[in-house]
Amino acid sequence: METISDLEKQLGGMREFYLKGKTKEASWRIAQLKGLRNFLREKEEDIFEALKKDLRKHPVEAYRDELGILIKSLNLALNDLKKWMSSKTAKLPIIALLSSAEIIPEPLGLVLIISSWNFPLGLSLDPLIGAIAAGNAVVLKPSELAPACAALLAANIPNYLDSKAVKVIQGGPAVGEQLLQQKWDKIFFTGSTRVGRIIMLAATKHLTPVTLELGGKCPLVLDSLSWSLDKEVAVNRILFAKFGCCAGQACIAIDYLLAEKQFSSTLVNLLKAMVKKMFGENPKESCSISRIVNKDNFLRLKKLLDDPLVKASIVHGGQMDEDNLFIEPTILLDPPLESELMTEEIFGPLLPIITLEKIEDSIDFINSRPKPLALYAFTKNKTLQRRMITETSSGSVIFNDAIIQFAVDTLPFGGIGESGIGKYHGKFSFDTFSHYKSVARRSFLTDFWFRFPPWNNSKLLL
Ligand code: NAD
Repeated sequence: METISDLEKQLGGMREFYLKGKTKEASWRIAQLKGLRNFLREKEEDIFEALKKDLRKHPVEAYRDELGILIKSLNLALNDLKKWMSSKTAKLPIIALLSSAEIIPEPLGLVLIISSWNFPLGLSLDPLIGAIAAGNAVVLKPSELAPACAALLAANIPNYLDSKAVKVIQGGPAVGEQLLQQKWDKIFFTGSTRVGRIIMLAATKHLTPVTLELGGKCPLVLDSLSWSLDKEVAVNRILFAKFGCCAGQACIAIDYLLAEKQFSSTLVNLLKAMVKKMFGENPKESCSISRIVNKDNFLRLKKLLDDPLVKASIVHGGQMDEDNLFIEPTILLDPPLESELMTEEIFGPLLPIITLEKIEDSIDFINSRPKPLALYAFTKNKTLQRRMITETSSGSVIFNDAIIQFAVDTLPFGGIGESGIGKYHGKFSFDTFSHYKSVARRSFLTDFWFRFPPWNNSKLLL
């Protein structure tokens, strides 16, 4: 990392460039979005390679969760940009005779994006698309824990985007802290709730607006009465959303499952059979499950299982290989609720099942914990669905599937409470990086005499 004075000089140059107004031009924004799309298309092989190095992500998973989603976001932004940028006429009350008003989106200025390692391309570039589309200058700090992807971004972004307004700075927490000392017009952060608090505190200095995309424990409620006909579909979707998406290292992965006690052994048997179908008899040999990102995270997950009461609750899996950063898809039945496994975000391939007397008890269970980023419920029971929506609070609620909300541009993506502040994706990303400015124009021709002093009671009677 450069010295603080180098950094300040660079940011000063970026701010100066921004103030010249170039980034506000539609043609500039379109050129950047196209540049980014060219990068993704031309460097596809390098991207797959970097994701393999950092996380052992299979190219199919990498395309599904990162490249494909980014290209979709870029196509949408390119297609709708002019509509998003256009001003909207605002209706005025009759009293504002001969006046007009509009709402104009304007960029915020120089913005900072700090991202996480689990989708190192997606979580860096999806917010970048919104920031550029909205006409901002951007500094992106990818996560140091996905070093191959961070290096790939740092090496290529200057070749595809205008480096006077878009810059990638690599580094870890120390660099993050240096960046936080600077003045920004917006900070967009993806990461843990712990660091989210640090970001928010730093932002108070300049009253900088923040978007915080944080984590937490996303529950899945499985209603046994509803699923009998669609068991295999349900179990496939559950396993995909726990083990098939960066090995559970996803903010919207299912953290734990809530199911009725009388149904737990059938459920466990089905899960075990389908895990074998997805990842084979020896999942360590499978190329369909990502690896744990690094040793610290491996040891963190190992420690969760080292608790003897937790270990005793394992009904499937539990094998670990530290040298290969591999953890087998692991299922646990009724681990202690006060164990770290059930109090901390898991962020790995461990799936606890918590049994309840009746499925409706899940509502109190969820409400007694911090508001999750996503709540999943597999149920056809309309009353239960309605209760889930109205009696619980979460970033999103998805019935009969999981994770798919991430790929839908028309749904705002973000958390609530400890799972985050703000939202993005699709047009919401553009909005997140824009200020909606009210503009009104009055004619000199008319005026109402009663708006001006001196006051007297006849004006009140009007
Ligand atoms: P993290 O909070 O440790 O790091 C995130 C980013 O912040 C990294 O770029 C890191 O270098 C930087 N950072 C760390 N300490 C900093 C500091 N003191 N000052 C400034 N920057 C600092 O999180 P992580 O380990 O990368 O990611 C895991 C967490 O992120 C999980 O909790 C997960 O749920 C959450 N997450 C949320 C989303 C979402 O969209 N809501 C997506 C992915 C991950």
